[in-house]
Amino acid sequence: MLQSLMKQITSSYRRRISADEAKGNFIFVVKHWIDFFPEAGKIFRLEFENKRHDAAIKSIDCRCVGPERPHRHFHIKLKDIKLNKGDGIVLTKQKDRYLLRVVK
Ligand SMILES: [Zn+2]
Repeated sequence: MLQSLMKQITSSYRRRISADEAKGNFIFVVKHWIDFFPEAGKIFRLEFENKRHDAAIKSIDCRCVGPERPHRHFHIKLKDIKLNKGDGIVLTKQKDRYLLRVVK
């Protein structure tokens, strides 16, 4: 698949932070990128501005496309990292850790 090929080439998850994400302090992970991250609930190391943080994927039941189409959303919940709406983020995987950068 093209999407998994892209992952191998770039090894970075890129996204622009939405108002919801900034307000709720999380990074939304689109479905086809979920296997780039550890399984939901598993703590992993996230590094941002040379500091280490613990992070985990949170799996959330959702009905945003109607009650007849239940599905899951995946968030990386951020504790001590504050992102702003419109921030471009790049998450790069290096062995067992993930590096988070904000790019303009
Ligand atoms: Zn939804």
